[in-house]
Amino acid sequence: MILKEIEEIKKIRESAQLVSKTLGLMAKEIKPGITSLFLDKIAEEFILDNNAIPGFKGYNDFPNTLCVSVNNQVVHGIPCDKPLIEGDIISIDCGVINEGYYGDHAYTFKVGEVSSEIDQLLDATKNSLYVGMDAMIENNRIGDIGNAIESYIKLHGYGIVRELVGHGLGENLHEEPEVPNYGRKGVGKIIKNGLVLAIEPMINLGTQKINLDEDGWTIVTLDGLPSAHFEHNIALIDGKPEILSTFDYIYEALGIDSDEENRFKNFFN
Ligand code: MG
Ligand code: MG
Repeated sequence: MILKEIEEIKKIRESAQLVSKTLGLMAKEIKPGITSLFLDKIAEEFILDNNAIPGFKGYNDFPNTLCVSVNNQVVHGIPCDKPLIEGDIISIDCGVINEGYYGDHAYTFKVGEVSSEIDQLLDATKNSLYVGMDAMIENNRIGDIGNAIESYIKLHGYGIVRELVGHGLGENLHEEPEVPNYGRKGVGKIIKNGLVLAIEPMINLGTQKINLDEDGWTIVTLDGLPSAHFEHNIALIDGKPEILSTFDYIYEALGIDSDEENRFKNFFN
């Protein structure tokens, strides 16, 4: 487990914020008829224009800048030329490298209007991310984060993906410790100042079981039902979680009120 100095956390924050701005750009473009390949092109250009490097392209030979996962796709979907249609959901996960440090966060967007069932899945998944973040306090353990997410999601009866987890973040995209979205209180590594995590619940409307698509990348739900994914990057500073990424650019683009304004902003703002 690598604990970071404040100067390093600032660099991760720079990268995370560039991802946030990229996701904000995506929010403006997503509508029925557009393709994920088009979104990928815009995102890549934007990141390069900001003198950063797309963090996923070439990572384990992943072919694109964005992971785009539509409906029953959970994560790691490859951008393609199939147009989005009204009622779809699209999870966009984006990574950048800036000054040697990664940012990595994700949001699940609605394409037009979605069913109330899917709307509730999105709300609960996003809420579970904050519930998990709230458990990231000094001397808690990694299992406390997963336990908090699991306890919250259980109330809704959704499936929590087990095989894929959150992670440490820094000079590497995936660092120790792994951060499962389930777990037991008081179990796992102790959370210390300087720890930077990517917390990322992946929640399925139906079964928790998943499959790997034949493309070798895309994770899909076993029952074909939709899945949601929200990810933030968080550092522990002075004993408290400080959010390094933000959904505010997305909310601004969508014209909706931010629910992050008063959260976790005491250190950097
Ligand atoms: Mg990610
Ligand atoms: Mg991640």
